[in-house]
Amino acid sequence: MDHVRAQLGASVDEVCEMVVRPAAASVDREARHPVESWKALSEIGVLRMRVPVEDGGFGLDLASYIAVIERIARACAASAMTVHMHSTACDAIVRGAPAHRRGEWLAPVVDELTLYGSWGSEPGSSASRLFHSSTTVVRRGDEFVVDGLKHFCTMAGVARGAMVACTLVDEQARHQPVSIFVPGEGPGIEVFGDWEPLGMRGTVSPSVRFSACGIEADRVFIGRSSPGGTAQLALGFSAVMLGSAEGALGTATDHCRAKVLAGSSEPIAADPLVRRHLGHVVARLAAARAVLFEAAREWVPDEPRWSVVPAARAKYVVQDAALAATSELMQIVGGISATPGLGLERAFRDVRTASLMPPNPDRMSWLLGADLLGEQVQMFDFSASQ
Ligand SMILES: Cc1cc2nc3c(=O)[nH]c(=O)nc-3n(C[C@H](O)[C@H](O)[C@H](O)COP(=O)(O)OP(=O)(O)OC[C@H]3O[C@@H](n4cnc5c(N)ncnc54)[C@H](O)[C@@H]3O)c2cc1C
Repeated sequence: MDHVRAQLGASVDEVCEMVVRPAAASVDREARHPVESWKALSEIGVLRMRVPVEDGGFGLDLASYIAVIERIARACAASAMTVHMHSTACDAIVRGAPAHRRGEWLAPVVDELTLYGSWGSEPGSSASRLFHSSTTVVRRGDEFVVDGLKHFCTMAGVARGAMVACTLVDEQARHQPVSIFVPGEGPGIEVFGDWEPLGMRGTVSPSVRFSACGIEADRVFIGRSSPGGTAQLALGFSAVMLGSAEGALGTATDHCRAKVLAGSSEPIAADPLVRRHLGHVVARLAAARAVLFEAAREWVPDEPRWSVVPAARAKYVVQDAALAATSELMQIVGGISATPGLGLERAFRDVRTASLMPPNPDRMSWLLGADLLGEQVQMFDFSASQ
């Protein structure tokens, strides 16, 4: 495993320098899918990082996985976020798919350039309070029928399939939260809407409407959310924000080393004030990184105290540090940082946008306080009522 980890780490850095970083500016400007990055990352196995070895993947442990997401985010936050959403869907397949389907759904991830989405959000519900899915799934004979609207569906239109959070309504009108694994396209699936967000523009996340969409019965997974799964989701979001801020730190440092003002013989990096600010960012990000990797290393999948709580702490700390760091770095570099050339404003926009991902800071601080007071906590609370 150490060998796999080291090899994957080295090639990720190489691919990021050769392909992912050079594409990042146009991915952002055009709000387009980072296709060239996906292709290059897929060739070195990044899309199957979390697929178990017996299914043809790397079966990477969580801390190593988080390190790869962080490395990709240093070059392109949207590439890292899309890989993370895909890996989250792969995890859900591994956890919940029936044995006879598991190989069929994971094989394209191993052999081809296949990405899966993970779509939960709806216009009328917040994951950070009481998440209720108005998207329903009901049995009709041998199949199930899905109806509803999801928004912010990352990779909708190109994903070959997606895990979708739904409410299962049975014959007695009882409601139960479930996940379903839907194909990326087909009758009753409509992808629509403009995509012009502030940041994370390369995630291309339009809306998806399901209208009397029929799916096979074995695509419905009961018991949709595990503590480990929700913790992994939050840790991946954290790695995206941290990597993006670290990338910005590298860019700002290079700029300060190169920038010599008129009348001076030294670059601004020699100035004590500039050094002090850079040092402040270094310390902040290093502390956040330590908390993030402690959570990833300690992660015990089905144990909320060892998954959800450390992950909430990590996202809270990383989010705070990355937001502050990307802002401070723009201040250090000055006006030029607000123009697209350096990529600092992109990191600022990407971190601000990624920080909206759940759980939000109110949910995380509530959760940490409740845990402190001895309450059993979950990352998200689900409602299955009408
Ligand atoms: C670039 C991007 C990509 C995304 N990709 C995906 C994706 O692939 N899949 C996916 O599922 N989602 C995706 N999302 C959506 C994202 O997960 C949500 O936007 C995020 O969960 C925040 O949810 P929210 O908008 O409801 O805000 P929240 O912060 O959850 O809520 C907004 C406000 O409403 C308040 N509030 C919430 N509930 C209540 C209540 N019951 N009573 C009173 N006040 C309340 C909150 O306190 C908060 O102030 C994406 C978003 C972006 C920006």
